[in-house]
Order: sequence, then structure tokens, then C-alpha cells
Amino acid sequence: MAAQRAEDRPADTAPALRQDFANLIDGELVGGEAQIEVIDPALGTAFACCPAAARADLDRAVAAARRAFAGWRAASYEVRRAAIRRMAELLREHQGPLAELLTLEQGKPLGQSRDEITRAATQSEGLAQIPIASETLLEDAERRIELHYHPLGVVGIITPWNAPINLAAGPLVSALYTGNTVVLKPSPYTPLSTLRIGALLREVFPRGVVNVLAGGDELGQWMSEHPGIDKISFTGSVATGKKVMASAAGTLKRLTLELGGNDAAIVLDDVDPASIAPKLFFAAFVNSGQVCMAIKRIYAHERIYEALCAALAAEARKTRVGSGLDRETELGPIQNREQYERVLGILAATRASGARILAGGEPPARPGYFFPPTIVADIDESSRLVQEEQFGPIVPVLKFSDVEDALRRANDTRYGLSGSVWSRDPERAAALAARLEVGTAWVNQHRATSATVPFGGAKESGLGRQYSILGLKSYMEPRVVSVLKRPA
Ligand code: NAD
Repeated sequence: MAAQRAEDRPADTAPALRQDFANLIDGELVGGEAQIEVIDPALGTAFACCPAAARADLDRAVAAARRAFAGWRAASYEVRRAAIRRMAELLREHQGPLAELLTLEQGKPLGQSRDEITRAATQSEGLAQIPIASETLLEDAERRIELHYHPLGVVGIITPWNAPINLAAGPLVSALYTGNTVVLKPSPYTPLSTLRIGALLREVFPRGVVNVLAGGDELGQWMSEHPGIDKISFTGSVATGKKVMASAAGTLKRLTLELGGNDAAIVLDDVDPASIAPKLFFAAFVNSGQVCMAIKRIYAHERIYEALCAALAAEARKTRVGSGLDRETELGPIQNREQYERVLGILAATRASGARILAGGEPPARPGYFFPPTIVADIDESSRLVQEEQFGPIVPVLKFSDVEDALRRANDTRYGLSGSVWSRDPERAAALAARLEVGTAWVNQHRATSATVPFGGAKESGLGRQYSILGLKSYMEPRVVSVLKRPA
């Protein structure tokens, strides 16, 4: 999505938009000439606008981050940890208004927006607790070999629109705790809550340590190419991740890529379909399926197939879809028109293939990008819904009779983010889960993550890991000091 200039909109149709948002550059809140209009997905109309950073804004932000780096890298882990704790406190103190803003721009129910903020705060504190120490790899009478970790410099963080606060917090805290400074760019679809957090962080970090710039896709490209940025931490689609990698090649930037997934859940023959259906449903449909690690394909053993399909369809029918601001709502709209139209296209292809639609499948005729939770049975493996990352509230249930066949089909994809196996016998499931070609394989659960456990994708679902000591070290350069204990 490219930034739209306010003057491009016909004046007589322009509604009054909230304009109280600014970029954060070198500790100052700054406006800009070009504007991004932010759409409320529950209405399909713009409700706010914010500045779209120009290339000169990026240059200023990078220069500020480079200036701030010397001081911030010299600060102790204790000082940086304390600042991150203060950031977490601020997120909690401002949870109400931030959650409302997140729901307005992203669409998710208010309770889930609040959860996202709580989670961002908890994960931030968790990451900043992890000790990072130099290591002695060898020490004897002759030699000592030490391994030290140093911050990289300026980290550019690029985030998507499905969970803007949580997906910014992980890389932001990882970069800052390890002594780097940051330029953070949210998605042009959901820039507002990130800009608001940027404004709050002025009181926490020295000027220039955190810079927040809203902008279109071109800003992400400029960041990926920028010679003053040492690492890009990118969360988004596989296609864009590849572009980031190509743009970053010129300066050989360090990269963490958290990309899409097509997670399979394999449900074995011994489960009680009624008791696991709500858990599977939630893991597939929360945030209207717009979660990288949502269940996107369900492989069910033929013995429990029909019963599971019926139980999932019952869950879908009783789920309340509506505006995220409505307290009754369990699923909000799809976040943007382009994604809504993509999911409509997948639905049309699914219908045309002759698959059985057990629940949903009829988007309501109302403003906004609403789409009912849709359960599809008896669908061909080669269909778009099975092969692509749908990233929306429509999920296929596929039948298997041989568990080896289920495993082969689950792994037969270029994605490899995560997956799960469900059984009455956790050890039987664990043996199968270990054979899923993914970054994270769960047993009798899906979407369980924590600050101390690495998360990231195998295959084309990503590069590197976030969270845990593994994730933190990817924001640092290892440096070996090898000492021969003899006078020269
Ligand atoms: P996207 O790739 O379209 O955009 C993500 C970000 O990249 C946005 O800020 C966008 O402006 C920016 N961008 C676009 N073109 C760019 C370019 N050429 N160079 C640099 N930056 C550019 O993704 P999206 O549609 O916002 O998000 C949905 C995708 O994100 C899904 O595929 C989802 O699975 C994935 N995702 C992955 C994770 C994970 O942790 N693995 C988490 C959440 C979402």
C-alpha cells in the first residue's frame, strides 16, 4: 500500500479525520507533507490520518539513531532493563486508550486488543530478564578463548497489520535490551497505535534511541537498502520478506524474517471431537484467522472426521461476528479491503471446486470487511484454500486414514512456521510432532509462545528466531578474543 496524499482526496467527500498522530524522530514528534488515511475495517471508511515519512525523514531518523547508539550501547543491561520495565508499565497504564485505538484501526475485539497490550508488556519484561553473558570457550595454561556479544548498531523494524503492538514489542525490546537503537515502521494499514506508543516512549529512552516512522511500503524498502541501518527485523508475508532480503543484500544487513505460515493441525483417531473442537476453532479463527501461527489446515482421522466437522461447524455458527467495539463481538472484520477480497477469491474457488461448506460462506451485505467463520470439508488437496496461506476466517478440514500420509501432506508445503498434533496420548502425538518440518510443533495446544522460547519459521516461513537467548543474540555480533598467554 502506498501513502496517499491528503490533497489527492476530493475535498467534498473528505470526512473529518482524527489528526493527532505524529512520527517520532530524534525525540521530537513531527508531522509530514504526505498523509496516510487509516480505515476503520468495521465501517470501511477512513477515521484518522497520520504523516507518511519521506526519505529525508528516514535519513534524519537513522542519523539520530546512529548518534544515540554510542550512549545507549554504553548503558548497562540493568539500565536498559529498567527502561524496558518502564515501557511495560506505560503500556499497562495506557492500556484502555491504546486498546481502543488498536481495535479501531485493526478491527479485533476490544478484549483481544487489551490482551495484545498485556502480552506485549509481559513479553517485554520477560525478554529483558534473560541474562546475556560473555563466554569462555577454552581456558588452559596456554590459551584463553572468549566469546563476547556486541550490539549491531541501528536496527530497522518493519511490522505487519495483524498484531501491530505485539509484533513491534518483541523486536523493539530485543534490539534495545541488547544495546541497539531503533527505527520502527508499522504497516500503513495500522500505524496509529505504534505511533502512540512512540510518543509514550519519549519519557523512557534517551532521544534518538527509538524512532517511529509511519509510511507506505516504499519506506520499508528504503529502510532495507539504507546504509545507516545494520539489521532489519521484518515481520510480514513471504513475498515481501524476499524483497527485504534482496534490498538488504547491497549492505549485507543482518536479517530476522518472521514470515507467513500454513500451519497444519493433525487430529488423531483417539480424540473426543466435542472436547477439542473449541480449542481447534479458537486457534484457527482468533483475530479472524489473521495470525501467522493460526491453524490453517486441519487433518482429521477418518474415524472422527464427520464428528469433528460437525463440532467445528457448530462452533462457527454460534460465534458472534461484529464490530470490535461491541462487547458481544468474538470475531471482528478482516483488517483491510485487499485481504477481504483475497479471502472472497479463495471462497469462490472453494465453492467452484465442489467442496462442502459446512458453516459460514455467506459474507453479510453490510459496510466493513465482515466475513463469517467458514468451515470447509471434502476439499481437494490442490485447492487454493489448502495450498495458500488464507490469513482469514475460512479453514479446511481434510480427511486421512494413515497417519504417515497425514504427516506427508502436512509437510508438503513451502511454509514451515508451526503445527500441532492432537491425541489422548501426548507421547504418541509428541513423536509425530517432532517430525513436522516447522519452527514450533505443539502437542494438544497451538499458539503457545513465551519470551524465553525461540519462535520462528523453517523453510520459507522465515529466517532466524525471535525471543529467547537465541533471538536476543541475533541482535548482536559475536566477537571472539583469543589470547595466547605468552609474552610476545
Ligand atoms: P506485508 O508483507 O504486506 O507487509 C508487512 C510490512 O512490510 C508492512 O509494514 C509493509 O509496509 C512493509 N513492506 C511492504 N513492501 C515492502 C518492501 N518492498 N520492502 C520492505 N517493507 C515492505 O505483510 P502484511 O500483509 O502486513 O502481514 C500479513 C503477513 O504477515 C502474513 O503472511 C502473516 O503470516 C505474516 N506474519 C508473520 C508473523 C511471524 O511471526 N512469522 C507474524 C505476523 C504476521
